[in-house]
Amino acid sequence: MKFIPYAHQSISDEDIAAVVRTLKSDFLSQGPEIGRFEKEFATFVNAPFAVACASGTAALHLGCLAAGIGAGDRVLTTPITFVASANCARYVGASVEFADINPETCLLDPGECEKMLDAAQRAGKPFKAVITVDLAGYPCDMQAFSRLKEKFGFIWIEDACHALGATWTNNHGEKLQIGACKTVDLTIYSFHPVKHITTGEGGMITAHDSALDARLRLFRSHGINRASSAMKIRSEAFDETGAPNPWYYEMQELGFNYRLSDIQAALGTSQLARLPIFLTRRHEVAARYRSAFTEWPYIIFPKISEGLCHAYHLVIVLIDFKALGKSRVQVMNELRAKGIGTQVHYLPVPMMPAYGAGAENPEGAMKHLPAALAYYRHTLSIPCFSDISDDEVERVVSALKEAVK
Ligand SMILES: *Cc1c(COP(=O)(O)O)cnc(C)c1O
Repeated sequence: MKFIPYAHQSISDEDIAAVVRTLKSDFLSQGPEIGRFEKEFATFVNAPFAVACASGTAALHLGCLAAGIGAGDRVLTTPITFVASANCARYVGASVEFADINPETCLLDPGECEKMLDAAQRAGKPFKAVITVDLAGYPCDMQAFSRLKEKFGFIWIEDACHALGATWTNNHGEKLQIGACKTVDLTIYSFHPVKHITTGEGGMITAHDSALDARLRLFRSHGINRASSAMKIRSEAFDETGAPNPWYYEMQELGFNYRLSDIQAALGTSQLARLPIFLTRRHEVAARYRSAFTEWPYIIFPKISEGLCHAYHLVIVLIDFKALGKSRVQVMNELRAKGIGTQVHYLPVPMMPAYGAGAENPEGAMKHLPAALAYYRHTLSIPCFSDISDDEVERVVSALKEAVK
C-alpha cells in the first residue's frame, strides 16, 4: 500500500527536460532563465514586478530590507504561521507582535489588528508593517486590511506562500489576483516542494512600485549596483573622458546572495505552465473532502466567504478531540497505520522557545491569543496535492471517518 503524504511535488518529463536543457546551456546562474521565470510569474499573478530569490524565507527577509523596516520598528503578524513570517522582522532588528486570529477563518483577525494598531498609534509608537498570511491558501480579509492600511499607513507585506493562484474581490466588485499588489506593497511566495509549484528551494516577491523592485534586486545580490547612472564615487566609476570604467561596481547597501539559479528558474517556468491544472485538482480534492464530512459532528472546515477564492495549499480540518474522546496523536497514528500522512499547521510562533516560551508554561505566551490557541488544539492537515489519485482521496476519507466516528 502506497504511503500518502500530506503534500508532495509533481515533476513531469517536461520539467526534467527544462532542467537538463539549462545544465547544457552557458548559464547555470545569472543567466536568461531568471528573467524569463520572473516575467511569466508576474504575468500569471498580474503584478508589475516580480523578483526571484533563493527561498520564501529569503523573499521575506528581502521584503523587509527593501521596505526599510529596521531596528526599533514594530511589526504585527499572525501567531498561526510558519516561523519565517515572523523571523524576517527580527532579521532586520524589528520586534514582532502577534494579533489573534478569527476563529472561523483561522486567519489574522482585522478587528484584533485594528485594536493593536490603534493602541500603538495612540502610544506614539505605531506599527511600521503588518505581515498577513493566507493560511492554507485562503486569502486574508483583503478588503478589511486595505481599509486598515489606508487608515494607519503601515507597510503591508502579504505572505502568500500558501496562496499562489488565489483571488479576491475588491469593493468595486473587481476580481483581483493575490500577488497583483493593488493594495499590498509586497507579496511573498515559496517554491519549497510542498508548495503549489517547486524549484527545489526558491521564492518570489511581487511588487507594484519600481523603487521597491530596484531595492529588492540590490539586496538580492550583495547590495552591489552596476548601473553607471547610479554610481556614487564618480572619480572611480568613470575615466578621464567620462566613459564608465568597465570593471567598476559599487556595493551601496549591505546585501546578501539570495539569488535563484538558472537551473531552478527553468524548473519554475516549466512548473508554472502546469499551475492551472494543479489548482483545478487541488479544488477537486478539497471539494470531495468538504462534501464527505458535511454531516460529521467532530469535523469542521474553516469558513470560506464569498468573493475570496482559495488556492488550497492545505486542506485543514478542525477536530474537537476532547468531544471525540481521542487525542490528536491517536488519530494521526491511526491514519499513519493506514499509510496516510497528516501534519499540524502550525504550532503557534509565540510558543516557540526562540520566541521566549518557557518549558513550564508554554501556553503563557498565548494569554492574549485565545482563538489561536484553540485553533492549534484542534487543527489537522490531511493529504492534498495535485498528483493524489481519486482512490487515494477515498482512502483518506474512509480512514478519517473510521478514526473520528
Ligand atoms: C513555506 C513557507 C515559508 C518559507 O518558505 P521557504 O521557501 O521554505 O523558505 C514562509 N511562510 C509560509 C507561510 C510558508 O508556508
